[in-house]
Amino acid sequence: MVYNKRMSSRAYNFNPGPCGLPDAVMERAQAEFLSYRGEQASVMEISHRGAAFMEAYRRAVGLLRELMDIGDDYAVLLVAGGATGQAAAIPLNLLADENQCAAYLITGHWSKRAADEGAKYCRMHVAADTADNNYTALPVQLQIPEDAAYLHYADNETIHGVEFPAPPATAVPLIADMSSNILSRHINVDDYGLIYAGAQKNMGPTGITVAIVRKSLVQTRRQTPMIWDYRQQMDNDSMINTPPTFPIYMMGLVLEWMRGEGGVAEMSRRADEKAALLYGCIDRSDFYNNPAVNGCRSRMNVPFFIADDKLTGDFLSGAQQNGMIGLKGHAVLGGCRASLYNAMPVAGVRCLVEYMRDFEKRHG
Ligand SMILES: *Cc1c(COP(=O)(O)O)cnc(C)c1O
Repeated sequence: MVYNKRMSSRAYNFNPGPCGLPDAVMERAQAEFLSYRGEQASVMEISHRGAAFMEAYRRAVGLLRELMDIGDDYAVLLVAGGATGQAAAIPLNLLADENQCAAYLITGHWSKRAADEGAKYCRMHVAADTADNNYTALPVQLQIPEDAAYLHYADNETIHGVEFPAPPATAVPLIADMSSNILSRHINVDDYGLIYAGAQKNMGPTGITVAIVRKSLVQTRRQTPMIWDYRQQMDNDSMINTPPTFPIYMMGLVLEWMRGEGGVAEMSRRADEKAALLYGCIDRSDFYNNPAVNGCRSRMNVPFFIADDKLTGDFLSGAQQNGMIGLKGHAVLGGCRASLYNAMPVAGVRCLVEYMRDFEKRHG
């Protein structure tokens, strides 16, 4: 039985990041790879300050502003160093000094890591930590000191598969790591002090990170490395050094594709459909299970386990033989994980669900 009816040399790619990119984007990049729009050189071979690249840069930023409806009181920075770099950059830019308090919510691997890094640069206050229930549920009670400069949280935990259905309620500026769910549903940017995301989960290849920051929150802290200094980056079109030009160009193509498909509203509709298909399949029987509590299950990253874990290896190799890759779970949890980012077509999830049902019939 063939599950992937496309019979393409490109599998359905469930990798958690770097993620699969739309075929149309890859074909466009291939078509203009050697000579970029009359430049007689690749986009990765031209000056980042020249007119052709500046146009690609402005287009990418403009598309992000349009798709997310980002107001003028926010700066959009495209920087290197990953979401990991932002874990240090945030306290270094939003706090005047290390004696200032910042609050962190810990709901899984990535928010824990951001808190550990942030603690080097602030007076750390943990507002809640769901380690006691193995990061399968979101906190009910938050303890946020009045003098906290901000509350940091991860909107979607890529490894543990828990996602906030709505932002946590707080009186202090909200800082969201949206690395793995940005552009997958409508959000109101004005609800946030800062939103950041590595591009490689939902917006493009690896190499750049987006930071959308309310300008009025940015402080000046003397020891902040120049490369992490939001104000300097703001004043220099994110180009205080040579930026990752090829990833910026690729992100622009992905955002253009997204707009052509119907923007965030359509990405959100597809995310609901894909998640409903996969969770529906998992919940049909006890053969598969997903540990996240209903109501905070991620629409982007679905960890799942086969009750008889000895079957996991066969499940994964069978999937690969049938044109579905990237389903191995993260080492922290084991098992399987399907990442359903924006570039994953609904047909890819139908293909996975069909394979899962047949696998269950053969082994259940
Ligand atoms: C992948 C990921 C990170 C780390 O991103 P890098 O760009 O690799 O530094 C941080 N937070 C979340 C939610 C992630 O999914």
